[in-house]
Amino acid sequence: MRIGHPGYDGPMEPRATATDFDGRPGMPDRFGRALRDLRISVTDRCNFRCPYCMPAEVFGRDFAFLPRELVLSFEEIERLARIFVELGVGKLRITGGEPLVRRDLPVLISSLAAIRTPEGDAVDLTLTTNGSALRALAAPLAEAGLQRITVSLDSLDDDVFGAMNGVDFPVSRVLDGIAAARTAGLTPIKVNTVVRRGMNEASVLPLARWARDAGLVLRFIEYMDVGHSNGWRLDDVVPADEILGMIDAAMPLEPVSAQYRGEVAGRYRYRDGNGELGVIASVTRPFCGDCTRARLSAEGSLYTCLFAVAGTDLKGPLRAGASDGEVADLVRSVWEIRADRYSELRSEATERLPKVEMFALGG
Ligand code: SAM
Repeated sequence: MRIGHPGYDGPMEPRATATDFDGRPGMPDRFGRALRDLRISVTDRCNFRCPYCMPAEVFGRDFAFLPRELVLSFEEIERLARIFVELGVGKLRITGGEPLVRRDLPVLISSLAAIRTPEGDAVDLTLTTNGSALRALAAPLAEAGLQRITVSLDSLDDDVFGAMNGVDFPVSRVLDGIAAARTAGLTPIKVNTVVRRGMNEASVLPLARWARDAGLVLRFIEYMDVGHSNGWRLDDVVPADEILGMIDAAMPLEPVSAQYRGEVAGRYRYRDGNGELGVIASVTRPFCGDCTRARLSAEGSLYTCLFAVAGTDLKGPLRAGASDGEVADLVRSVWEIRADRYSELRSEATERLPKVEMFALGG
């Protein structure tokens, strides 16, 4: 079995120049992809136990999450974020684990919101959350300078959602969080839904209707083989075409062209003009060719692919007294040799690789 593009072991494409990728100055990797986005995991802990990400039987009471001293401090995160922005990053996404379980998160947000690009612009600052603590935190986060938010929600049905979050967390509390985010002005609000065969296909259409009526940007995510704890099987993936087909049959859709190079979601709008939705189809429509993302784990390792087997430690040099320039040189040296394109090479062989868990490296 092989899905996605056939294996590619040929010569690399010629080295791109700094502005080839999207017209902006930047640092090209071996396929000419510039570093534009940094996902920052602020914790490896989460209060949910979604079976597709952090299954309860693996991540039980005895599981050893990172001790506090191994987690980057807010000052370290801010310093690294500034270095990445100097290198061409324009978008910072806070994630985890569940980022809202990290104490005093608004303090970090306000320091990140103050960062400016070399051109003097503010960075695009956003956060992905399961929404469970959003009712209380939406206003403080917005006041601290968070611009918008993405909330994960896999069903509007309590039984289905309870099974998918692994802790019977009720839908209503996530909806309260989304309402609070809207009141706080964290818009446009995006909603992420992972679709898993046999679990929540029946939730697709109700979610699409709800998001459309509520003016939310819904993105369906194909279930991915991240990490190795979730027992991923290709049969569990509901392909984007099938998801779109279900919705199109009830509410006709048409494709929308990407807003910028590197946009992850394939975008579609309702033909009647009432909103749009997206599909993130890493399995059936790999988008490695335009991937501009790096990930910083809670313990300060740099990963250049969601499906990575290893990262590069940045915390060690930072704590050993490296200068900003030395850390920037390390990041540059990692990015310049980056040749990751896991989703394009996905096969039975890649499935067995000892990949790092998604909650650890920042989803
Ligand atoms: N806790 C936050 C949340 O729930 O959004 C942030 C971290 S979570 C790892 C980020 C996103 O990754 C969520 O939307 C989650 O549903 C998605 N995700 C986790 N495991 C996945 C998998 N195996 N396939 C596809 N998406 C996954």
